[in-house]
Amino acid sequence: MNIIQIPAFSDNYLWLLHESNLRDAVVVDPGDHTPILKALEENNLDLKDILITHHHNDHIGGILELKKLFPDVNIYGPSDKRIPANIIVKDGERVKLNSLHETFKVIDVKGHTNSHVAYYFKNKLFCGDTLFSCGCGRLFEGSYIDMHKALSKIKQLPKETMIYCAHEYTLDNIGFAKLVDPNNEDLISMEKKVKKIIDKGGYSIPSKLESELKINPFLRFDIPNIKQSVQNHFNTEIKSEAEIFKYIREWKDKEYD
Ligand SMILES: [Zn+2]
Repeated sequence: MNIIQIPAFSDNYLWLLHESNLRDAVVVDPGDHTPILKALEENNLDLKDILITHHHNDHIGGILELKKLFPDVNIYGPSDKRIPANIIVKDGERVKLNSLHETFKVIDVKGHTNSHVAYYFKNKLFCGDTLFSCGCGRLFEGSYIDMHKALSKIKQLPKETMIYCAHEYTLDNIGFAKLVDPNNEDLISMEKKVKKIIDKGGYSIPSKLESELKINPFLRFDIPNIKQSVQNHFNTEIKSEAEIFKYIREWKDKEYD
């Protein structure tokens, strides 16, 4: 499977998937139709399927125009009136698209919104706004319990899994992570690496789950150092890993951005 990374708006990434020997293409979260049409044309591809992770406009805003140009396109998404999907997907379901050789599994990852799903292909996760490199999505609709559960599911995926998230937030996220986890050498070296990439106009996404487990404070709620750091910051005793996650999210929301 080939994956074309399409930057959109100020910091979004849209993902176009296709097989080398097929003209069929699949787009994940088409927030804007214009750069997708350009990529389809440049690569001589025909849009067959759309996968939607959640209802926010920077993920679905291009659907209407794409549907006009490709009236037979299938739109996969979770059950939610705000998402114009014609094929509803559910947690745990495996789907084989005719347009790709690979099967994907649907993972319910509500938290950022109440109906957010992620699409897992072999060692590739399209997770919308649930997990970012060194960060995670804000809790607009779900609870911290929901998001902790979603991130725990992602933690269980194979370490080689590449994370195709929807935003280039990495450097800013590292800035916050350093407050929570100041002595983490992996974080410091990742900051240098990402700075170099961004300075050259490159992308820090996709990132590897193996690396996220070492640097992302929102996945490190089971690490004693992180628990200690959060307890010190809030001057309170924390009992569960879900609560550690909740406090890290609050820390970032209230005191960082
Ligand atoms: Zn969103």
